[in-house]
Amino acid sequence: MTASPAPTFGEWIHRPFLQTVTTDMAPFWEGVSSHELRLCRCSRCRAWYFPFTLCTRHADIPDLGEMRWQVASGRGAIFTYVVVHRVVDPAFEAELPYILAIVELDEGPLFPARVINVEPGDALVGTEVQASYLDVPAAQTLILFSAAG
Ligand SMILES: [Zn+2]
Repeated sequence: MTASPAPTFGEWIHRPFLQTVTTDMAPFWEGVSSHELRLCRCSRCRAWYFPFTLCTRHADIPDLGEMRWQVASGRGAIFTYVVVHRVVDPAFEAELPYILAIVELDEGPLFPARVINVEPGDALVGTEVQASYLDVPAAQTLILFSAAG
């Protein structure tokens, strides 16, 4: 199967990227702007979470102050994925087919993301990936995943 070349970062600049940044998720997006993948971590049992939530591993629920954002490795593997072949948003039409995946981060949480620099025909469950960052002028920095190098 012949796939189109993976899009380069420069080709992404005109896409509709803006995300809603809530107070709970602001530290995550601040990390992305600094090219860091931050996950929420329980200071009591050290379990990692994404997105922000209260730890569920205790008989009593920790309070908000026990959950802290911490820089994670940015590494993981494709847990599951789909290859998008149909136009959902015309802004992405030229990039079909592309990969939308759930990445299982090395720290444990599952993270939804687009995977770039992997040919759709080459994507496999278990493919090792790492976080990549795309600085979009006048918008947010975005987090994507690409093949681990
Ligand atoms: Zn905990």
